[in-house]
Amino acid sequence: MTATIIDGKAVSQEIKEEVKVLTEKLNREHGITPGLAFILVGDNPASQVYVKNKAKACESLGFYSLTEKMPEDTSEEKVLAKIDEFNQDDRIHGILVQMPLPKQISEYRIIEAIHPSKDVDGLHPFNIGLFSAAKAWDEIMEKRLLLPCTPYGMMVLLDKYGIEVTGKRAVVVGRSNLGGKPTAMLLLSKNATVTIAHSRTANLAAVCREADILVAVIGKPLFIKKEFIKPGAAVLDVGINRTDGGLVGDVDFEAAKEVAGWITPVPGGVGAMTISMLMRNTLMAAEKKAGEINSKYETLNSKQTPKPEIQNAKKYDLEERTESFSKRVIDFVNDVPKDIVDSEIIKQLVRSSGSVGANYIEANESLSRKDYFMRAKISRKEAKETRYWLRLIKCNPAQEEERSALIQEATELMKILGAIITKSGGK
Ligand code: NAP
Repeated sequence: MTATIIDGKAVSQEIKEEVKVLTEKLNREHGITPGLAFILVGDNPASQVYVKNKAKACESLGFYSLTEKMPEDTSEEKVLAKIDEFNQDDRIHGILVQMPLPKQISEYRIIEAIHPSKDVDGLHPFNIGLFSAAKAWDEIMEKRLLLPCTPYGMMVLLDKYGIEVTGKRAVVVGRSNLGGKPTAMLLLSKNATVTIAHSRTANLAAVCREADILVAVIGKPLFIKKEFIKPGAAVLDVGINRTDGGLVGDVDFEAAKEVAGWITPVPGGVGAMTISMLMRNTLMAAEKKAGEINSKYETLNSKQTPKPEIQNAKKYDLEERTESFSKRVIDFVNDVPKDIVDSEIIKQLVRSSGSVGANYIEANESLSRKDYFMRAKISRKEAKETRYWLRLIKCNPAQEEERSALIQEATELMKILGAIITKSGGK
């Protein structure tokens, strides 16, 4: 067997294009340009390259960015003061302090000083707490939580390549706060059964061989051998190791690709996703600032966000409104190519009802498109259903005016429904 090579570069490019379009929209509709500030302390050559590449990405996407360079012997207080300045600056929606930092500076204190709403690296304990406490991936997406960029990128790759996570055995080798731990939490939120392995794990090869999804976040060149891999598994290699032979990952790629079902190369795999996810997080932080998105997180953190008007949203009004909205959407999506509509519906069904949805689809392959709609509409009173409509609307490139009107209606409905669901404890 030869594995499918997961092309992180291509997916990353796709995300950047999406971010660029949404950045233009945010700018056009709200006059807001996403802003990202970098703090680079010292002259570590690798850090300089990383910051330069991130700043370049900002420029190509139309972001505002600035880099504060500080000498190697800068005190922790000075870095904290700079962070505070950026926390107050309305042009800045994201702050990134490039790690590693010189010895006199505590990375933990630095991360903690960044305002959680500007923590686009997703490393602040508050943000880690939020996504760790979320029940499931859908909730994380719905609340638009800021996730650590590299683990988030991995989840996007699994999704883009249609790799099933629910019910699968996942083994993450590495337990760092930046790598292994958040990756494990995100896999858990997607219903994998997760094991975290580390340097003290006994029988590591055997533990890894159990994995349908194997993630290596170790920092040891070519450490994961062919024998560690279950045939057909998805292997995600986060390691970046500079060797005399060039850049290599933690996985012995050449041998592993003969056994794995999917595998990420190094370079061009997981690492290629990190910058795009950083850009996506920064855009999201700016969108939240624009008050476009409603979520529990936002009402906690952004005083400027208008509260949804739920007091007037009587039940029957809502039912009527969602009913008429659904009809408009059905008419509208009629020109979307059938395969796109069907795949969106299938994704939604699987998401909303898990294996029940999947079995339903399997047993009813002959269902007509209308029947799919009828089935999908069953849960339309839930906010996630409106999200599904929203995705369908976005699939149709035609009829710009109606599309904008529908998106606006979907967004408003999501706010009202989301607020009601939150208020009633998710019931
Ligand atoms: P780290 O903090 O050094 O953590 C390494 C982890 O690997 C630790 O949990 C360690 O276990 C475990 N480990 C070490 N030797 C092991 C062994 N022999 N068997 C099993 N586990 C072992 O490193 P990190 O920050 O997580 O980074 C890991 C790698 O990912 C590095 O190559 C880094 O460059 C790369 N990385 C890439 C990106 C990106 O693509 N953008 C982002 C982050 C990291 P113990 O806890 O028991 O010591």
